[in-house]
Amino acid sequence: MLSIAQALAVAATAVTPLDAQDLPVADALGRVLAEDVAAAHDVPPFANSAMDGYAVRSGPRDRTLSVVGDSRAGAPAAQEVGEGTAVRISTGAVVPAGADAVLQVELVSVDGDTVTLNDDVEPGRNVREPGEDMRKDGGVLHKGTRLGAVELGVAATAVRAALAVGRRPMVAVVATGDELVPAGSPLGPGQIHDSNAIALAAQAARAGAEVLGTAHAPDTREATETELGAALEQADVLVISGGVSVGPHDHVKPALEQLGVEERFWRVALRPGKPTWFGTRDGRLVFGLPGNPVSALVTFHLFARPALLALQGAPFATRTTQAVLTQSIPRNPGRDEAVRVRLATDDAGRLTATPTGPQGSHQLTSMLGADGLAIVTAGEDEAPAGEAVAIERL
Ligand code: AMP
Ligand code: MG
Repeated sequence: MLSIAQALAVAATAVTPLDAQDLPVADALGRVLAEDVAAAHDVPPFANSAMDGYAVRSGPRDRTLSVVGDSRAGAPAAQEVGEGTAVRISTGAVVPAGADAVLQVELVSVDGDTVTLNDDVEPGRNVREPGEDMRKDGGVLHKGTRLGAVELGVAATAVRAALAVGRRPMVAVVATGDELVPAGSPLGPGQIHDSNAIALAAQAARAGAEVLGTAHAPDTREATETELGAALEQADVLVISGGVSVGPHDHVKPALEQLGVEERFWRVALRPGKPTWFGTRDGRLVFGLPGNPVSALVTFHLFARPALLALQGAPFATRTTQAVLTQSIPRNPGRDEAVRVRLATDDAGRLTATPTGPQGSHQLTSMLGADGLAIVTAGEDEAPAGEAVAIERL
């Protein structure tokens, strides 16, 4: 049985990033940047005003100046500023030649075509210099970064119409189990609703994947092989729920073997999530996740999510931080336990972790409101309150 870290290392080495493609900046939200981006020019590109007011020469208060022009955002003034003159200016407008400061409108008295300055004006006051935000040719975004709203704004400002981003992995989800019926259907004896197909597809989409679809395989060897085989034909990544244990109705492992998927690991010293299976076929990744709803979500988050992002060109990484337990938690003797926790900050400014409630792997509601998974390492004793533990942020 592999440790969590060993299993992650195996998954990391199995990932080869997919090709890059060019996308308009406006379409690149959530994508992973496949190139470094530098600013094409200084930003701001010209000295401009931080305030609505009057562009003037710096100097003492109580000067009365004649207003000779107007500099508006997008429409610079033609006039220069001299010793006895000022130009009315708007926020973001070009500071006219001859001026080295702007006095805001609140600090002047206007009388017809003249203004009297009611404050001393030091050089550079309210002037935004060129390049204060970005320098021409200076790097602003780095390859491997996942693009959020801010990154898109920076890219647009740096004069990019398009960005090279990693292709989205295509993911197929197959839920196995005779007991499963689709959400919304009435339940017959012994049946449950298939929650994993929906939740795993949602997790994959959140990780930037394009979900091709979800399928259901009943617990026969033949049906399992048919569904998994069909999914493997189209998908870069196949995510399977259930059927990876050693029961007589668990057909996933032999079906995958028959389909030529090479096993990279099976079983991780993790609770929930012990039967997790991972394999590859021609660069395609296959995750066989345990069927219990919490196990499926936890193992997806720990192993499949970083792999999906790495396929898009991000570094293979978990979202690990540290927090202090607010209550003691009994350790599992043989496996590290992923405890669903809420994170908060205590009076001393430390990040704290508090279990969300009952932690059964069938209790999906234990994931509601969870900010992270506290990894309580295996042992015979308990992890005491006050102990710092690793947190995988959700
Ligand atoms: P398995 O891993 O197939 O042995 O399933 C373990 C447990 O998870 C069983 O209680 C199953 O009924 C349940 N389970 C399996 N697949 C799903 C699913 N898609 N949605 C919800 N529960 C499931
Ligand atoms: Mg099953």
